[in-house]
Amino acid sequence: MMKRYDAYTVELEPGWVWLVGAGPGDPGLLTLHALSALEQADVVVHDALVDERILGMVRPGVELVNVGKRGWKCSPKQSDICELLVEQAQLGKRVVRLKGGDPFVFGRGGEETHALVAAEIPFRIVPGITAGIGGLAYAGIPLTTRDTNDAVVFVTGHDESGGMSRRVRWEDLARTVPVIVIYMPMKSLKRIAERMIAGGRDPDEHCAIVSHASTPRQRVLISTLARCAADAAASDLPNPALFVLGPVVDFRVWVNWFPGNRSPRLAPLSPAAGE
Ligand code: SAH
Repeated sequence: MMKRYDAYTVELEPGWVWLVGAGPGDPGLLTLHALSALEQADVVVHDALVDERILGMVRPGVELVNVGKRGWKCSPKQSDICELLVEQAQLGKRVVRLKGGDPFVFGRGGEETHALVAAEIPFRIVPGITAGIGGLAYAGIPLTTRDTNDAVVFVTGHDESGGMSRRVRWEDLARTVPVIVIYMPMKSLKRIAERMIAGGRDPDEHCAIVSHASTPRQRVLISTLARCAADAAASDLPNPALFVLGPVVDFRVWVNWFPGNRSPRLAPLSPAAGE
């Protein structure tokens, strides 16, 4: 049966790989291309981050390969994942590589595309809503407002070494960018916050940590730059979590709309008010 959106989707052909962004969690945030990819796939190679409800959208009997930590191999290397994609496509399968958020935002989509090009495998990229945009919206935090910020930066809290990103100049970011969104912030939060304060940022400036954004498990902790690492540890916020610093955090007081939030609608914005 034709669906209303069929005219906007395309065929996932055998031997092709689609790199698909699954968004931050809420299945309603999938794009039409992402949904149609799931409906056509023979095999779905996914990260640990992808929501169970989204994985449930595949056809019965479709092979789901979890290449996230604790799935598939004990510590899959990026090259193993690239090899798997190439191998599955060469078997003539319709392959979906499903990633949380957007495949090209801290998602290694670049490396995987490179491997596909080298092996002459045809592919398509299906962008997704990245956590730093969709997740913050679900936390009631606008990324920009005309009165508060003309710029925003997305930065990763740790790099491939597993430690704090060495290339990031936190002091300079703190000095120059009004709104700073950090992916994978938790391991190094204390040191990152210290470096941003060293860069001249007010220790009492409000920040938020958003855990499991856009899912029924969403939790939002409002804190200050000086206290955020201690508050996060005390409230045991689970990963995945995002950090955001800047004047937009204060908008949450009236923009807090998501029914999954466990807080009262008008949460007081006292330092460290958590949910
Ligand atoms: N490609 C993804 C990011 C992968 S890196 C994207 O575009 O969103 C993994 C990090 O993304 C996590 O450590 C966390 O910082 C963030 N993240 C992903 N999903 C999230 C969610 N639902 N809630 C909060 N943070 C999330």
